[in-house]
Amino acid sequence: MTHPLVDIGINLMHRSFNEDRDLLVEKAAAAGVTPLIITGTSLRSSSEAVRYAGRYPAKLYATAGVHPHDAKSCNEETLKKLKELAALPQVVAIGECGLDYNRDFSPREVQRTWFAEQVRLAQELEMPLFLHEREAFADFMHILREHSVRKAVVHCFTGTAAELKAYLDAGFHIGITGWICDERRGKPLRELVRNVPLNRLMIETDAPFLTPRDLKEKPKDGRNEPAFLPHILRSVALCVGKPAEEVAKATTETAREFFGI
Ligand SMILES: [Zn+2]
Repeated sequence: MTHPLVDIGINLMHRSFNEDRDLLVEKAAAAGVTPLIITGTSLRSSSEAVRYAGRYPAKLYATAGVHPHDAKSCNEETLKKLKELAALPQVVAIGECGLDYNRDFSPREVQRTWFAEQVRLAQELEMPLFLHEREAFADFMHILREHSVRKAVVHCFTGTAAELKAYLDAGFHIGITGWICDERRGKPLRELVRNVPLNRLMIETDAPFLTPRDLKEKPKDGRNEPAFLPHILRSVALCVGKPAEEVAKATTETAREFFGI
């Protein structure tokens, strides 16, 4: 791989990276994966992500937001703090936010309230949204439509053809993870990804989660990492039927434009 790749979703502040975080950033860069956008999933992880990203200007960026799992921890103060974080130059999106009716770690009503609040914050600050949706498509779209959202990426897309069409029609971008490397579970996605124009397509590891199942050398600890992004890129290229280099260049350009980096 010669063209650099942007990992638009890496949970770098996850505790499984506590021992070798700096090394991982270097390893990623050596594999051509740079810059990385660290996903903030709670006020605490967003603050940590923003602080850590500040140490590597132009190499690391961060999002600031609260995942639906953590919606129950939100209050007015949370929004104020997110707004303060969002003012820093390394923060490039509001999120990860959205709805997750698969796990239901926060009551659905509470999820909807704090998702809508974060959507309004992004609109107010004119920042892109980094979105999460699981089994909540109708309510999720309703909130986004209500606020006339255009600039958003639906991260780790694994939905249906109709859902993909609705996202694209709404002007959203699509994030593809190593889910696509799974011959069995990823089969529908492997076919659908062809419908995403390259100027709407971005790639991400979602590490330490979603380790590609078809890696030749499996990591001993099973942990995913940003250096595996070229592997995901090759799967995406195969599925869309375009040369890997072309898809690399296009997804990187799309990410740079979308996040303004
Ligand atoms: Zn997610």
